[in-house]
Amino acid sequence: MYEREREELVERLVRWGYLSKRDIIDAFKKVPRHEFIPENIRDYSYADQPLSIGHGQTISAPSMIAIMLESLDLKAGQKVLEVGTGSGYNAALIAEVVGQMRRVFSIERIDELAEFGRANLKRTGYGWVKVVVGDGTCGYEKEAPWDRILVTACAPELPKPLVQQLKIGGKIGAPVGQHYMFQTWLVAERRGKKELKIEERGGCSFVPLVGKCGWKTGG
Ligand code: SAM
Repeated sequence: MYEREREELVERLVRWGYLSKRDIIDAFKKVPRHEFIPENIRDYSYADQPLSIGHGQTISAPSMIAIMLESLDLKAGQKVLEVGTGSGYNAALIAEVVGQMRRVFSIERIDELAEFGRANLKRTGYGWVKVVVGDGTCGYEKEAPWDRILVTACAPELPKPLVQQLKIGGKIGAPVGQHYMFQTWLVAERRGKKELKIEERGGCSFVPLVGKCGWKTGG
């Protein structure tokens, strides 16, 4: 189902320059995005737009997801934490690229969405991805350190616990900004215990990261 639509979407994302890495292109071709979209809007699954997944949350547009994944230099065998499971689609793509059992974790603060994401992952063959309910601003210490952390909701700054849970040489990608519409996709590499190399990779717009760890509020 929707195979032609998926193929055409991937062709467009390559042509527009959003997708260039072979293993990420293959993951986009393989993971059935429509299985992660609520049934009543499934026909929009392969349009390049964000879609509602309920509880005031969204699954990002495919082009944004391509930017996020390509910017992280994902590789087979890495241990990856995603913050903000939502539908589970990003986690499935990551699992497809990383390709090793028990090395992909995703944390979601809303119970019902964690359940939705978990069910979608299981149905599509990625049931081994561990979905945890919790506040991802605090990271997931139990399984740290991480090679890669992908944050899919926006904070005023990079949450410190997440940076601290990165391996030296590890990378975090996250939307950062104070305003709902004007945010920046940041990629930061942990170069040493206290050294972080931060790159700005363009504008973006995400739902807020809601949590209690990592940055001062009200400032
Ligand atoms: N990655 C998701 C996907 O593939 O569908 C889409 C993520 S959606 C843009 C952002 C998600 O982050 C929402 O599901 C939201 O509930 C979640 N979120 C917000 N703050 C969070 C936090 N502190 N910890 C964990 N999840 C959080």
